[in-house]
Amino acid sequence: MYERMLEAAKKANELSYAPYSNYRVSCAILLKSGNIITGVNIENASFSLTICAERCALFRCYASGYKKDDLVSMLIYTNREDSMPYPCGACRQVMVELFGLDKDVTIVNDLGRPETYKVKELIPMTFTEESL
Ligand SMILES: [Zn+2]
Repeated sequence: MYERMLEAAKKANELSYAPYSNYRVSCAILLKSGNIITGVNIENASFSLTICAERCALFRCYASGYKKDDLVSMLIYTNREDSMPYPCGACRQVMVELFGLDKDVTIVNDLGRPETYKVKELIPMTFTEESL
């Protein structure tokens, strides 16, 4: 499944809109059905309105009618070789609520040495909906 997700992320990466940073990130989310939903980072001249690939993909899942239980795993990819596309804090927080603490997030760049972490490893001591 890793290869299918990586292939989907690589294809989606070409759709990244990153004219300012030129840091192209894409995200592939595997659904229980076997389908894959992708997202890309989309930048904006005002910078703060930029959306990351991970949130783009998660929001696309929800906008398509899927919920947390429908989502199996996530892969984050950049076409660069000089850094890994580790998710930012905002995306980690969104993963907690929309994806799930016990699910796997695989992070890989163009060198192809994937690292896989549980969401709860990426963001320990989490603020969740149960915290309210
Ligand atoms: Zn992010």
